[in-house]
Amino acid sequence: MMTKREQFYRYLGLPSFNPLELDIVKAEGVYLWDRDGKEYIDLVAGITVSNIGHRHPAVLDAIRKQLDQYLHLNVYGEFIQAPQVQLAVKLVSLLPSPLEAVYFVNSGSEAMEGALKLAKRFTGRTEIISFRNAYHGSTHGSLSITGHESLKNAFRPLLPDVAMATFNDRSDLEMISSRTACVVIEMVQAEAGIVRAEENYIRELKKICDREGVLIILDDVQMGMGRTGKLFSFEHYDFVPDILVLAKALGAGMPLGAFIASRNVMDTLASKPELGHITTFGGHPVSCAAAMAGLEVLTEGELIAEAEMKGRIFSEKLAGHPAVSAVRRVGLALGIDLSQVGKRNDFQQFSLEEGFVIDWYMFRPATFRLAPPLTITMEEIDKAINKVLAALDRLL
Ligand code: PMP
Repeated sequence: MMTKREQFYRYLGLPSFNPLELDIVKAEGVYLWDRDGKEYIDLVAGITVSNIGHRHPAVLDAIRKQLDQYLHLNVYGEFIQAPQVQLAVKLVSLLPSPLEAVYFVNSGSEAMEGALKLAKRFTGRTEIISFRNAYHGSTHGSLSITGHESLKNAFRPLLPDVAMATFNDRSDLEMISSRTACVVIEMVQAEAGIVRAEENYIRELKKICDREGVLIILDDVQMGMGRTGKLFSFEHYDFVPDILVLAKALGAGMPLGAFIASRNVMDTLASKPELGHITTFGGHPVSCAAAMAGLEVLTEGELIAEAEMKGRIFSEKLAGHPAVSAVRRVGLALGIDLSQVGKRNDFQQFSLEEGFVIDWYMFRPATFRLAPPLTITMEEIDKAINKVLAALDRLL
């Protein structure tokens, strides 16, 4: 008999040969338990998915109710499915004009694909500008606009007419012209290790894009849904994107993505040709029911308002440790640089032994990701900080 671990390696296609190998049997709130009963505090929320914690009771209730109604009925956009409609109404009520039409898909990458196609279709242009050190997904289109050669090179040719700009560098804004369909940006570059867009820079970007008729696509897949201390990251700025891309925490633990635009822009996907973007499972009713419950939890309590304070506690307690060289933070998303680059594997090992889960930012190798569920309590924060400090101590 093969062990489950052996079957994992024998039968699954894997994205790397260096997985964490945790074998979790139960998750609840900020906690994970493995098959030996060992408890871990989840300090990455499944990579910013479980913003309201694992298995929130309101989400489980909504899922159970939807299970009694229907699962998949038909491809997206044919039947009037109440969970999709209700969620779209709720999202639009929380968004500024003109973000008023929600297209549901399954994931962040797929939402980005839809957004890129929409921008090309609406403007009739082909050039796409995105930023170095941005991650936008793993499908061909979203990979084409991802800003790191290490991920892209082996898969060329990718999308043509993609240009890369340097984030927060004003001189690169000159690249934007009447040839440009869209600029794809994050308000906080997550995979760069938490790098925030400067306000003046966004103001300038918006001015140039308006002048040239260029759409701005905001990738809020990772930083949306309360992570930054606002429901959507652009709310920290005097700026509204033309197309907003959401996924990850949107589904409250279920797979769901969305791209959101004005009615005028969105409608271009539905004609000449019809079926400009289609999806079988997009906006799955169970995912939408879960998302609706999750959104209510997020917006009705103080969770989002508390993200800033909770994040600050983590940064204040961890920044002074001698094994840490710098901390960058927005809300409850932290990028913590280890002083020694070569200690990454050790720290990973120590974190599991101490009973917490972290992760690494893709384009900043010695920087670990700390982004716990926004529901983490003050006691849990205390407990988590002590564990992280203990693991850091072991690096010295
Ligand atoms: N954009 C950003 C900023 C992301 O962090 C991710 C996922 N890490 C994606 C897009 C792609 O989302 P998905 O993995 O759901 O395709």
